[in-house]
Amino acid sequence: MQVGKGKDKRIKIGEIEDKKIFCYKNQSSEKINTDKLKEVIEETIYKYARLEDENTNSGFVLINKRPSVSIYKETVREIVNIDETKKLLKSSKSYFKGYKNSRGIIGATASVAWSSKNDKTFELITYRQKEKWGSKRFVDDDSTMEMNKTCSLTFDNYDYENKHNRIVPSSPCPVLFGIRGENETELVKAKSMIKSEKIDAWIIFESNQGTDDHLQRKNIDKIKPYNSVIVKGKVSRKPLTLEGGHVIFSIKDSTGCIDCAAYEPTKKFRNIIRKLVVGDVVEVYGGIRKEPLTINIEKIKIISLKNLIEKVENPVCLKCGKHMKSKGKKQGFKCKICGSESNKPLLKEKKRLIQTGFYEVPVCARRHLSKPLKRIKKQS
Ligand code: ZN
Repeated sequence: MQVGKGKDKRIKIGEIEDKKIFCYKNQSSEKINTDKLKEVIEETIYKYARLEDENTNSGFVLINKRPSVSIYKETVREIVNIDETKKLLKSSKSYFKGYKNSRGIIGATASVAWSSKNDKTFELITYRQKEKWGSKRFVDDDSTMEMNKTCSLTFDNYDYENKHNRIVPSSPCPVLFGIRGENETELVKAKSMIKSEKIDAWIIFESNQGTDDHLQRKNIDKIKPYNSVIVKGKVSRKPLTLEGGHVIFSIKDSTGCIDCAAYEPTKKFRNIIRKLVVGDVVEVYGGIRKEPLTINIEKIKIISLKNLIEKVENPVCLKCGKHMKSKGKKQGFKCKICGSESNKPLLKEKKRLIQTGFYEVPVCARRHLSKPLKRIKKQS
């Protein structure tokens, strides 16, 4: 976030207890007391970060000049080496502090480097009263569904198929709920529609959620573990349901072949995948699992469906008007009456049970960065 004194036009973006929080169009040139700032941040981290958790590796950075957006792109798409981040921060005379393995400074640097110019969304986050932290949350499902219907610019609110309220986190964090959307004004209305336990504070963040920023188009031979990719290819092995309900198939392009998986938690999405056949052309969107190298499908665009031909009946003799008899597998056909031969049975195009176009995993299985089809349709 940007820290400083705002000036010019302001809009309200939150409330903490009874204090209104504003976001300003411009920043005043008044100098910032960075020593005071460091102190406040350090105190906050010591007070609230769960440093005893093995996955918590906090970090913060104070940067005067925004790093190139390429730093953000690399971080969201590849695995970044912490020494490179430290080198960059030192060369720009930025202040940074990492805790434990310090990998938090990588994300902190990337978030400063992020630019909202290309695409962005908003998330309104509400926070629980401190005494409620860790206990079961109360957020009403019916009011969430009602909000989802009314606020058309929000997304990923409720999974109707799997009865899952997606605005409520599953971790024991202080967040009560988070609503994602295209428009900050609508988010405030959306929040007011949710029936829930008391909200202690709320604030709207600009975000890269739902933007597909993590994805990059790749040929199969260039795919590395932990990449997130868009790959176009032809189905080369038909979908197979494994024990546990995971559905796997393979695609190939001119450079190689790779497995694609719709795992069990993607529920009914797997029924689409099961209808693919060898020869269909698809574009697969997803993250790469390492062992074995597999695309974990987030969404799929079916580009073309292979025409499936099936034999309906044996050919009819032109002289006698009766069906010929088969002479054996791949041996052609012969008329029993006059002895005429033919090798062309009557064929019919088999009806395919899916259509071309985009399909996505259900809301409950969606990754935060995945762009929902709702957004893709609005932007195209
Ligand atoms: Zn005949």
